[in-house]
Amino acid sequence: MNACLREKTEGSLEEIQKKEQKKLKLAIITTGSLVVLEVFGGIISNSLALLSDAWHMFVDASALATCFLAGELSSKNPTSDKTFGYHRVEILSALANGVLLVVLSAYIFYEAIQRLFLPAQVKGLEMLVITTIGLVGNALSMGILSGGVRGLNVKAALLHVTSDALSSVGAIVAGLVIIFTNWYPVDPIVSIMTGSFIVYGSVKMLREVLHILLEGVPISINLNDVVGTMMSVSGVKEVHDVHIWSITSYRHYLSAHLVLRNDVLSNVGEVLNETKRLIDEKYGIRHTTIQVEPESYEEVGEVHRQY
Ligand SMILES: [Zn+2]
Ligand SMILES: [Zn+2]
Repeated sequence: MNACLREKTEGSLEEIQKKEQKKLKLAIITTGSLVVLEVFGGIISNSLALLSDAWHMFVDASALATCFLAGELSSKNPTSDKTFGYHRVEILSALANGVLLVVLSAYIFYEAIQRLFLPAQVKGLEMLVITTIGLVGNALSMGILSGGVRGLNVKAALLHVTSDALSSVGAIVAGLVIIFTNWYPVDPIVSIMTGSFIVYGSVKMLREVLHILLEGVPISINLNDVVGTMMSVSGVKEVHDVHIWSITSYRHYLSAHLVLRNDVLSNVGEVLNETKRLIDEKYGIRHTTIQVEPESYEEVGEVHRQY
């Protein structure tokens, strides 16, 4: 029963990842098709603006492809020299994407400030149409990637396409305002607003990334609560040296020491399994390493008493 339950939940974690990979693939196909369309359109209509938007779309597709490849790599089996497997590749990919977005918004700010002082160029109707095409592409990818967002890898991809969609909306709004009112400052103002959103989203995501890289306790789990749960198992006298961390989003690990009352020492298996079952059910932690100690045990080596 116990093993069955664990198998089932482990399976669903794999399923979530498969679904995420499917979403990323769809978003890449959508963006990639738009690149091809824009390149053809650009060549036929001799529009440099369309070609440059195709280049931007190509960069988007590459960012999505990076996330997809990271997802594929992360599902590789562990080896004797990488016993945790390759799950952290997802986190590294999210880190790279987050840093890239911060650099991108720095460039948006730089351009906006320049346009505050230099005479602004009016965006022609052609540019507005092209921006709208790009927006449709980004909106499609957003629709595909959002909904049941889980892993940081997909979060990073979603943040990228959302940032692009927002930039497009900003460009369209600014373009229309300039066409109808000739009020040029709207352009840099909208850019600064867009850049601020991207920085906000990226920093929020990067904090999650760094928390995982620093082996922090998963945000959704309260360590004292877990200790309380372990203490609630009958026969457990003391809990110490508890570590909880994630190797990637939603893949949590736990190690702990349990001091057992002398009268349950003959039933170690039962106490252990009850503890593991509770930890899996309540916190979704499937990989646990629990050291059982008798009351009189005098421990050697490095021991963490506080946590
Ligand atoms: Zn320790
Ligand atoms: Zn101990």
